[in-house]
Formats: sequence, structure tokens, C-alpha cells
Amino acid sequence: MPIAIQIAPGKNVHLSKIDPSASPDFDKEEGQARLVKLGRRLAELQELLFAAGDHSLLIVLQGRDTAGKDGTIKKILEAVNVQSTRVASFKVPTAEELAHDFLWRVHRQTPGLGEIVIFNRSHYEDVLVVRVHNLVPEKVWRPRYEAIRNFEELLVQSGTILVKFMLHISPDEQEERLLAREEDPLKSWKLSVGDWKERAHWDAYTEAYEEALSECSTESAPWHVIPANKKWARDLAVFEILIAALEPYEAEWRTNLEARGKEAKAELVSWRESQK
Ligand code: AMP
Ligand code: MG
Repeated sequence: MPIAIQIAPGKNVHLSKIDPSASPDFDKEEGQARLVKLGRRLAELQELLFAAGDHSLLIVLQGRDTAGKDGTIKKILEAVNVQSTRVASFKVPTAEELAHDFLWRVHRQTPGLGEIVIFNRSHYEDVLVVRVHNLVPEKVWRPRYEAIRNFEELLVQSGTILVKFMLHISPDEQEERLLAREEDPLKSWKLSVGDWKERAHWDAYTEAYEEALSECSTESAPWHVIPANKKWARDLAVFEILIAALEPYEAEWRTNLEARGKEAKAELVSWRESQK
């Protein structure tokens, strides 16, 4: 049974009904063995994506602090060819970014054909943190749902395969992870008072996430909620969805590549002939 939940367009989302500790009905060891195989398959599909050059892959990662965005990115980068993969992280906007529309900084980071880009946070912050902290009034952030849907549709029409993940953890798991950062000297650099402050807004974030997922899950760019308390289960779910998103294009990519291969060969043969 897949543990990820794909959000149907326009459907109300209740995060409290999705178990953040869900895992498949096998153990971690088996899960890790499967992940290695899925990683190979992902790499194979990436090679086709790159060589065919007809599409790009944009992975949007959202989640509360400690939800595992960095860990998920690391796992993906361990599997794919980093030569055609890039990560874009979205922080508190700079003055220059704030002087533009909220999609300006995002659009310039989208993947070109053949490329994979992973968004560590994204344009969704502009309807999440911005909403929770009243950084702009509702009459400014509410129309952003439609702007986001249109923006993402444009990307999809331009050949982007767009996959969006919300890493879903429980408050207890977050507390454990924050405390673990205090204890482990190698993790302490990640500590931030901000994380504890944000935690106090747990319910406001839940509401903001639920509405954003519901408003912005579309047929062509669906949202997936990933139970993320168990890291191994999270990674498996993410890899399965990425593979499922790429597989429908595989036959087309292979056909295109074969046709191009034949063309290249024919050119080579005729060049050799001309040298005789
Ligand atoms: P981190 O991902 O831990 O490096 O933190 C980045 C911080 O930037 C988070 O607290 C985000 O909420 C914040 N951030 C990202 N995008 C925006 C935005 N558009 N407006 C305000 N804060 C943002
Ligand atoms: Mg952080």
C-alpha cells in the first residue's frame, strides 16, 4: 500500500486525518533495499529526460521546520546525476526580491529542458509563512492561489513535469528532532530560535497548508502529502512518486532518442563515404 496521499483538485484537506507515522507493511531494512533499486530506476529515467531534452522536472519540497526537506534532497542527489540537477533554496526575501512580484525570484530558478531542479521551500511560502505572520494582508495573499495555479500551468505547458511534496510530521516528532539538534554537536549549527517560535504557530500553519494544498493541487501539478515521521518511509514514497511521474514519458523519450540516434549515425556514415 502506498502511504502518500495525492490531493484531488479542490478537495478539502485535513492533515489531522493523515498519519505522519504511516509506513509500508515491511521493515526499514527492506525499505532501504527497495530504495536502492528505486534510485537506479530514477537515474535511468533521468538519463532519458536529459538526453531527450523535451521536458524538465521540478520537485517542490515544502514542510515545517525539521520535516526532512534537506534529508530528502540529499537522498535524491545521491541517486541522480548531479550534472543536470540543481537545488534552489528560498529564504526570507531580499530587498530586491521584495521589490518584485512574488514569483519573480521563483521563475528564474525553474529548470530548463533536460534539467531537474529541486525547490527547498518555494513560492508556497508566500501563502504560508506570509499568511501566518500577516506579512501582507489577506487581500494580497489570497489572490496568489490563482497566480500560482496559472504560473504552474505555464510551466507544465512548457514541458515541465511538476511534482509537489508536503512532508508531514507530527508535533512530537518535531520536538524530538529539535531537541536532538541541541544534543548532537554536528547538528547544533541547524538550531534556530525561529524554529521554536514557528512551532508555537502549529495550528495556523496547519490551516495555511490545508488551504494551499486544496487550492493549488491540480491535475497537471498535484500535491502529495508524504508521511514523514519515518525517514525511510518518506524517502520511499518520494522516489515512488517521482518514478511514477516520469514513467509515462519513457516510451516517447526512447522513441525520440532512437530517431535522433539514427540521424546521427546516418550523418556519420555519409561523412565517412565522402572521405573515401
Ligand atoms: P530555512 O529553510 O531553515 O533555511 O529557513 C528559511 C526561512 O525563510 C524560513 O523560516 C522560511 O519561512 C523563510 N521564508 C522563505 N520564503 C519566505 C517568504 N516568501 N517570505 C517570508 N519568509 C520566507
Ligand atoms: Mg530551518
